[in-house]
Amino acid sequence: MAERRQVCVGVDLGGTKIQAAALKGNRVLGTARLQTPQSGVLEDVIGAIAESVEGSLQEAGVGQADLQAVGVGTPGEVDVPRGTVSRAANVPGFDGEVPLGSLVSASLDGGVPVRVDNDVRVGVLGEFRAGAGRPFRNLLGIWLGTGVGGGLVLGGKVHDGRGGAGEIGHLVVKPGGRQCSCGRRGCLEAYAGRACMEQRARDKHARGSRTRLFEIMREESKERLTSGVYARALKEKDKLAEELIADAAWALGIAMASAQNLLDVEAIVVGGGLGDRLGRRFLDRAAERMRRHLLNSADPPAALATELGDLSGAVGAALLAKPASRPARPRQEDGRAGSSRTASRAGAARRKT
Ligand SMILES: [Zn+2]
Repeated sequence: MAERRQVCVGVDLGGTKIQAAALKGNRVLGTARLQTPQSGVLEDVIGAIAESVEGSLQEAGVGQADLQAVGVGTPGEVDVPRGTVSRAANVPGFDGEVPLGSLVSASLDGGVPVRVDNDVRVGVLGEFRAGAGRPFRNLLGIWLGTGVGGGLVLGGKVHDGRGGAGEIGHLVVKPGGRQCSCGRRGCLEAYAGRACMEQRARDKHARGSRTRLFEIMREESKERLTSGVYARALKEKDKLAEELIADAAWALGIAMASAQNLLDVEAIVVGGGLGDRLGRRFLDRAAERMRRHLLNSADPPAALATELGDLSGAVGAALLAKPASRPARPRQEDGRAGSSRTASRAGAARRKT
């Protein structure tokens, strides 16, 4: 049983699901997962976040009295010091600027402190401190989901630049190439982000390409081409699915190589819903493409899948939430990024997923 106020809960807020994890130190004691309410009412989403926090505490066998702090990873542009998020278009009810931190805090007993950060950044932080990135001090995380996001750890510290560093999804892999959701052309996200891949699939299907993708989508009762739909289509050797995934691996490999030539990191972790689902084989293809473009091809970075899978965001958010003034764990003593990162950041901390 945890002592008083030693448990931090991290919440990974997405457009379709809310994942929470209750942690003591780096250890996950309990988790909870809910569907994101689709009513379009903000209060419903805040209520579901509070419910997910409660659920993870219950599974951990502790109560809200034991809760020290809550971290929330959200899509959209996050103002970290203010705890607000805007442009989180895929979360129903999140119109305009949402004071997410204060709303979640008010929905919990006793006004527990709540920290908010970008969903990809907390996911990379989770893998860095408690997952596949643990052995390394220089790490690039690339998250493939609806879009493509990234996070950067340099010298043991999360690197934010002026608040917007790590946006590898908009690294150009082909000038004048496919249309990206950002409005520009040829970005990595245009080839390896689920929304852009779906648009490509619809265009090709409308022009006569034969594919089972949309039938599988209906058979699975999905409204979008989810990572699970791709996984099944690949199993059925669907030509269009294979083509889209090959393009995604190609683009990812080029982006990984360009980033590596610039940063010389020890490891690149590929996660996110699509990244996790496509797994090792996809990662190997991307890594193979990467090596062709590496200046130092004799010593490539480790190309790793996530260890925490769909818990990386929730775990990272919990680690982010833990107040820096608490007695440091060994991992913090060796200079790795802790929650102090957020507190020390003075500039505007805005990020887009
Ligand atoms: Zn773009």
